[in-house]
Amino acid sequence: MSQGFLSTENLPFCAGCGHGLIARSIEKALQRLEHLTPLDLVVVTDIGCIGIIDKQFNAHTVHGLHGRSVALATGISMGLSNPRKKILVLLGDGGATIGLHHIIEAAHRNIDMTVIVHNNMLYGMTGGQPSGLTPCGFKTSTMPEGRPDSGMDLVKMVHGIGAAYARRIIAAGDVTDALEEALRVRGFSLIEAVELCPSYGVKFNPGRKLPEITEGAGLAPVLLRNESVEPFHTTVRDNTESLLNDVPVPAVEFGHKLSGKVSIILAGSAGEGVQSTAELLAQAAISCGLHVTKKGSYPVTVGVGFSLAEVIFSTEEIHYTGITGIDAALVTSVEGRDKALARLEKMKSGTIYIDSALYAPGSGAEMVIRDYRAPLGARSASLLCAAHFVKRSGFMPLEALLRALSSSRAGKAVDTDKLEQAVCELEREGGAK
Ligand code: SF4
Repeated sequence: MSQGFLSTENLPFCAGCGHGLIARSIEKALQRLEHLTPLDLVVVTDIGCIGIIDKQFNAHTVHGLHGRSVALATGISMGLSNPRKKILVLLGDGGATIGLHHIIEAAHRNIDMTVIVHNNMLYGMTGGQPSGLTPCGFKTSTMPEGRPDSGMDLVKMVHGIGAAYARRIIAAGDVTDALEEALRVRGFSLIEAVELCPSYGVKFNPGRKLPEITEGAGLAPVLLRNESVEPFHTTVRDNTESLLNDVPVPAVEFGHKLSGKVSIILAGSAGEGVQSTAELLAQAAISCGLHVTKKGSYPVTVGVGFSLAEVIFSTEEIHYTGITGIDAALVTSVEGRDKALARLEKMKSGTIYIDSALYAPGSGAEMVIRDYRAPLGARSASLLCAAHFVKRSGFMPLEALLRALSSSRAGKAVDTDKLEQAVCELEREGGAK
């Protein structure tokens, strides 16, 4: 078995556990899939006895929080472009109940994965409490008289919402054929495998066999299909391609004098145009043929407090969007200065452009101190500071920023001639300190 999908026959379950029986059928079903190698398989699990099987797989494995395995698998599925890969989610009825909405969403979108819900009708790992899938009459540690109402019908739910394949089986023998069929489905397939936990299920329900427990309790075997539904990634790829074709690619209209990379931060206040200024800088840089990234941070109450933005300009593609060394900081308000203070004080080189009303931080950077708030008003302080930075640093023409501004919504509120004039006056003032 060492060449197979499972690395060992010694599975980590109690003797007689239904999980072991299903695992052996999974191994056989996977072996039947032509061309599927262990490295084409991604096994996703979460908390519960079945979740500890991932270490036994010779495959890619992801072990997540309780109930979140289908959410993780959704992300993996949507990120995969290789149709050879297979995503297999193994979870229990507890995880299925906790993460029910993830399952419903994945089924609704018909996201490509096979989900095997090991329904032993209770939480085995924590002592035999009932789950949402526990059937009527089944006794558990906290319902010693048996569940008085019926459990949820997961198979009907996922079928009703759009899953390509939904099936309930009684896992009392070899279930390889059913698992193989589910694994061959393109799109979302779910198998609810009803089984017994000897340690709690058998203990609390002595002498009862699976057929008798499931009959009349809403757990009869069933197979439901939605024919002709496309897997989500196919639909998304088609739609995204047409959307991307409609996105205008900004034309390169200007040159630049940058060699390498420049990283800047803009530190100001909410409502003073920090984020929109950073976006304008980014657009201007793109129109100069540069690569650029922009990130913003501000409190959850977006209308008050600090507003910080980070922009990286580069002649090369940018693969890491974090800023490790600041080349220039544009500081236009007390709140922005206070928020960025620790980073400003760490600057050993570069330039800090700071409003003259602010206390300048101790730093090894060059200080450019000007009145950025008065000339065009506080709401344009960040824009004026950015325009001054562009003019003074000279790595791209100010005209590129002015062009980006005039074609933006912000351009309606700011007179580009006045902005250019204010920048020239700031330059004339000189006096770098
Ligand atoms: S507690 Fe129950 S579900 Fe868990 S491994 Fe043991 S028999 Fe299986």
